[in-house]
Amino acid sequence: MHWLGRSNDKREDVKLVFENVKSIIVLATSYNLGIHHLPNIKEGKISRYAWGRDYHKVLDKKTRKLRLRLKDLGIDAKFYTDTGPCMDKQWAVEAGLGWQGKNGLVLNKKLGSYFFISVGFLDTEIEEDKPYQDFCGACTKCISACPTGAIIQDKVVDANKCISYWTIESTTDKFPKEISDNLNNWAFGCDICQEVCPWNNHKNKLSQEFNFLPKENETTFEYEKIKNMTEEEFNIRYLSTPMKRTKLSGIKRNMEEIRGKV
Ligand code: SF4
Ligand code: SF4
Repeated sequence: MHWLGRSNDKREDVKLVFENVKSIIVLATSYNLGIHHLPNIKEGKISRYAWGRDYHKVLDKKTRKLRLRLKDLGIDAKFYTDTGPCMDKQWAVEAGLGWQGKNGLVLNKKLGSYFFISVGFLDTEIEEDKPYQDFCGACTKCISACPTGAIIQDKVVDANKCISYWTIESTTDKFPKEISDNLNNWAFGCDICQEVCPWNNHKNKLSQEFNFLPKENETTFEYEKIKNMTEEEFNIRYLSTPMKRTKLSGIKRNMEEIRGKV
């Protein structure tokens, strides 16, 4: 994911992002709706985070409201939700929101890992929270379950081996054999290393955000539907979702990759 390197200076010096920064706050918004993929799905599975409306838009609206509330209190702020350079995972740990699991994601005991992280830069000093303790312990379930061996070290995922990277970001016509052979019917993203995590369980606090509910109750792609879909139909259905990033051509490619293995 080469673009990460472009803004390293801003990651290291937050004053380049927000000149008057005195504090950083980190927020979690759950997208866990208590809905699961059915077992033995033959169609293309969509990662949970992408079932509903694009989280950038949903959380931008929420943080804009928060910014106005803070302004009323005389606090100037700037927020990012995956929209600018920041060390969101490291800061989430330092801010006491969760710990970084061996799968690289931030986990919270009550929320599990199905949540989005927003970061706020404030021009006011606030009391510091303590960093969150690591609760992975001796567990290695995510590492063992990853079908492509993408978790190469504790907290380190090799994007070149990760199904999420290939099905969302890559623009290639054909996947490498080791990815293609191990897709496990994932057509957009991959949740395997989250599904097996014991901290994602029935006790998790569920999301109240209706915008993250599966649009048209769809949590998978149907092969025939995608194969025959036009650009216009794709735009009407998916333009407000994270799927727009991969475009119809990418989703068609992913479904062909899965179909080739059925
Ligand atoms: S998202 Fe899938 S492929 Fe990537 S590390 Fe997790 S289990 Fe492995
Ligand atoms: S599956 Fe186990 S090792 Fe992996 S993130 Fe969850 S608790 Fe940590």
